[in-house]
Amino acid sequence: MNRLLTLFDYRWPNFEPWEVLSSDGMRAWIDKGMFVLNLDALNLLQRTRDLVGYPVHVNGYLGGKRGYRSSRENSMIRNSAEFSRHVAGDAFDISVSEMSTSDLFDAVTDIGWTGVKEYSNWVHVDLRPVPFGNVYRERLKDG
Ligand SMILES: [Zn+2]
Repeated sequence: MNRLLTLFDYRWPNFEPWEVLSSDGMRAWIDKGMFVLNLDALNLLQRTRDLVGYPVHVNGYLGGKRGYRSSRENSMIRNSAEFSRHVAGDAFDISVSEMSTSDLFDAVTDIGWTGVKEYSNWVHVDLRPVPFGNVYRERLKDG
């Protein structure tokens, strides 16, 4: 966090800043010069997009909260874990119109994300620190 990254340094061709930052995240960047996303996670998100070959949706609308969220924004989301990788700035909830969440899960599960969780309408990916390479994976359970 608190990395100095200007608009000129922004280098992720398939993701506009508003697509990966919440409104609080955009404000921190524009008003305070704090870029709150983990750059390794953003690089891996771009690699994910390159690998699947289709547009990867993070925030579907301005002010969305599927990429970075402040703790204030996270607390407004029902059932959100008290500590969330989204607040840490290394998580994205992604969806691809051309793929099922099950196929998307398979496509992203072994490319470097250390947390991958399938939900009914999206796949959560993150770069949590994992001891001894124990990657966290959870598939959607039926029923
Ligand atoms: Zn998530």
